[in-house]
Amino acid sequence: MAKYIVGLTGGIGSGKTTVSNMFAELGVEIIDADIIAREVVAPNSLALKEIAQHFGQEILLTNGELDRSALRSKVFADDEDKRWLNALLHPLIRQSILMALSQAAGQYCILSAPLLLENNLHVLVNTVLVVDVSVETQLKRTCLRDKSNQQEVNAIINSQINRDQRLALADDIINNERADLAYVREQVISLNARYQSQASAVNS
Ligand code: ADP
Repeated sequence: MAKYIVGLTGGIGSGKTTVSNMFAELGVEIIDADIIAREVVAPNSLALKEIAQHFGQEILLTNGELDRSALRSKVFADDEDKRWLNALLHPLIRQSILMALSQAAGQYCILSAPLLLENNLHVLVNTVLVVDVSVETQLKRTCLRDKSNQQEVNAIINSQINRDQRLALADDIINNERADLAYVREQVISLNARYQSQASAVNS
């Protein structure tokens, strides 16, 4: 069991997936909070049953899965519904993350979470690693990747913690501004070496 946990975060389009793939290539186990958040509301889960009871069956797709965009619209329009949903899901997601962390192998593992800081998940980790780019780069890369418009991406950026606040909570920062993945990999390799030695100090 890995006792040393690195929390990886960054705004939308900052390069979290790119960076976590590089750590995974080095053999580091990645626990992805987004995947866990989806598993918690999988078909037949208790959480999905409660959501369907609260919002009505029209919140489900014909295949029984959660209609995420319908749910997003509902909670966007109503703060009370948003609070209700968060009160249901956050403890379940947290519990499931804790379970995954307790089962992780290796010297250390990474908890990758876009909303690590916003949802207070950083209290679960030993150190916080932020992938950082300028807001202009975030916008440009996300629009390119998701084929979405600037307005939609801006709304997501504005719903997240701002760049200065995120950097203030970082123990380490990967600069992903340059269109140069070799430079990112160099930073990942050097952090991996440091995390391994920090982990062995904690684990011994
Ligand atoms: P996140 O997981 O934080 O949303 P991604 O890792 O998906 O971000 O990166 C956003 C987009 O930018 C992806 O299409 C990715 O391939 C691209 N990207 C990431 N890093 C770089 C880089 N250094 N140079 C150019 N494009 C990049």
